[in-house]
Amino acid sequence: MKSPDSSGEQEIYSEFLEQEKVSNDGMELYFTFGIIADVQYADKADSYNFTRTRKRYYRQSLHLLQSAIEEWNKEAKVPSFVLQLGDVIDGINVQLQASDVSLQRVLNEVGKSKAAFHHVWGNHEFYNFSRNYLTSSQLNSKHLEDQQDSVSKTRHKCVSDDSDSEEYYAYHFCPFESFRFLMVDCYDLSIIGRKPSSKKYQDSMKILKEKNPNTDLNSPEGLLENQFVQFNGGFSKEQLEWVNGVLTFSDENHEKVVIFGHLPIHPDSTDTVCLAWNYAEMLSLLQSHTCAVCYIAGHDHDGGYCLDSHGIHHITLQGIIETPSGRHAFGTVQVYEGSMILKGRGSVSNRVMHYRKQ
Ligand SMILES: [Zn+2]
Repeated sequence: MKSPDSSGEQEIYSEFLEQEKVSNDGMELYFTFGIIADVQYADKADSYNFTRTRKRYYRQSLHLLQSAIEEWNKEAKVPSFVLQLGDVIDGINVQLQASDVSLQRVLNEVGKSKAAFHHVWGNHEFYNFSRNYLTSSQLNSKHLEDQQDSVSKTRHKCVSDDSDSEEYYAYHFCPFESFRFLMVDCYDLSIIGRKPSSKKYQDSMKILKEKNPNTDLNSPEGLLENQFVQFNGGFSKEQLEWVNGVLTFSDENHEKVVIFGHLPIHPDSTDTVCLAWNYAEMLSLLQSHTCAVCYIAGHDHDGGYCLDSHGIHHITLQGIIETPSGRHAFGTVQVYEGSMILKGRGSVSNRVMHYRKQ
């Protein structure tokens, strides 16, 4: 893929800043980070989705990941890290018996990045791999969490080397003074990725069947709350309590927190069929902590955005897998004292995001 002409790009970007009536004169750029979602790579011919409305470009997705990394590596300020928002290889790899080889191809590309990748686990990770496998794989980026500060020492049942089947995969890190990034596990409650013998599987099946009477639990047909489908999941009480603890620490320490996970949590930022089961609980938790400034998700390939009633920005990033040849879908976020600026590529829009009042 051709990289954009940098002077032309700068011109467009300056125009954009002018249009938004934001001047970056005198604003100190603290750090930047990359965002990319739903690569869903497979070594397979392009084909349509289940409803035959959207084409998926399985092989090209690897090249788009590659070119995104090349562009990040060339940026004047190389991103401090990249958020890979989940579904990095497609579930079709199971049928192709190519889960390991496809993951390795993706990881070979990731290995060329100057910036460390934080890997979120989405439904397609769980179609391909068990939680135990993921925990010991290179898709477990928990080693990048903060080891130093006191909030990290708060005990929680998070995924670790001696993982048991009830743990969740979530952690946080502080890349710059007063800024924290918090990964949440949207498939903590789920019937994919959990062993059928586990309590969380059984509890999740009960919730799903109560909300979804369809024979095919992946079908949202006729549902009042159409997020209750098998390809979504939710947050356990213990994870919500742990998030509450981290955000309380951040409130007290006047930090700004960006939360990220695979599933969107605001109905105005996505097609509601892509929401986390108990999105409302996570949403009200974030709204009750003034440190929470932004939530970033993938999963809905069309993408979306909203600014909620409490001033939290909700970004649902467009999926690489449905991005046709000649287009792209990733972004770099520049972080300043008073705002973050999303510099989108291809179908991802540029956006200025001021922080909510603390
Ligand atoms: Zn997904």
